[in-house]
Amino acid sequence: MWQAELRVDLDAIRENVSRLRAGTDAELMAVVKGDGYGHGMLPAAYAALDAGADWLGVCTLDEALTLRRSGITAPVLAWLLPPGVPLHEGLVAGVDLGAASLDQLGEMITASRFAGRPARVHVKIDTGLSRGGATIDDWPALIEAAAKAEADGLIEVVGVWSHFVHADAPGHPTVDRQLAVFHEALALAERVGIRPRYRHLANSAATLTRRDTHFDLVRPGVSVYGLSPIAGEQYGLRPAMTARARVMLTKRVPAGTGVSYGHTYFTERETTLAVVPLGYADGVPRHASNAGPVQVAGGIRRVAGRVCMDQFVLDCGDDPVAAGDVVTLFGDGTDGAPTADDWAEAADTINYEIVTRFGGVRVPRVYD
Ligand code: PLP
Repeated sequence: MWQAELRVDLDAIRENVSRLRAGTDAELMAVVKGDGYGHGMLPAAYAALDAGADWLGVCTLDEALTLRRSGITAPVLAWLLPPGVPLHEGLVAGVDLGAASLDQLGEMITASRFAGRPARVHVKIDTGLSRGGATIDDWPALIEAAAKAEADGLIEVVGVWSHFVHADAPGHPTVDRQLAVFHEALALAERVGIRPRYRHLANSAATLTRRDTHFDLVRPGVSVYGLSPIAGEQYGLRPAMTARARVMLTKRVPAGTGVSYGHTYFTERETTLAVVPLGYADGVPRHASNAGPVQVAGGIRRVAGRVCMDQFVLDCGDDPVAAGDVVTLFGDGTDGAPTADDWAEAADTINYEIVTRFGGVRVPRVYD
């Protein structure tokens, strides 16, 4: 009998990708970094490609090479490439590279010489996030260097791209500001002869709410997995991940019993405690102590006391809960069980973090 499991519904991923695909005229890059946001990078990638995704997006070169090693031939963009990463391996494997600075572009040119083939580069403009990408002040130097390297046959500028700060708050003034900087960057690029096949900017939130940001390619991540980036809106997406465990043991205790480390919870009356064999080593956020909701024995209960490394406790009152009963931490919400959004609220974080951390560690994934 299983003790805890993550069920991943690949049909949900397929449906979500089809839905996103239907909402745009642009090509679609399914973002599968972070082990497919905890859902498993390869199964998520196959499901997304099955449903019509044109591209896959990842952070690290390792992630990109893993996709290639598994036989995936679709275009792949990798964009987190610190100094020393063996870029030539990416070139040989046909991985597109995100150039987030002049230095990085220089490394790509070196890698092209080494590999004997031009790097496929997406040059990044920092339109306001202040992470990767050249600021608009540094942009001319980056695109001039890119244009020269392209003329020398050392790189191919496949894309110009950027990333949003606050597209998850529709109407936020940064969205229009970033869009304006992006247009300016494209115009400057054109002036030095760069006319990329792919201009791309939209994450899930922008893909769902701002068609004018779609350009040639959209890069949804969290929505592929059925989670909404915008609180209170679901956009017809279906969450793909369900996290479940079985009650390990139950015990009857009197009123006033302190529960778990530090006794941050005391029972109010005689009650049944149920111990669940999942903890922060499995992705349950310790921040959700005394808060995280679960469905058990047909009702909703919350974590009582602190989440431990490997287990947490529920105060189940007089519910007929027994060892072996299924505890659903979160699922797609259709059966009344909590969702990843509920856990995000309980742990004061975002749904992205909930699914990514559950999927990243000890609990086996089962694919439907
Ligand atoms: N593009 C880039 C560069 C990203 O880093 C991410 C994820 O953070 C995405 C797209 C996908 O974003 P989201 O999961 O909000 O759709």
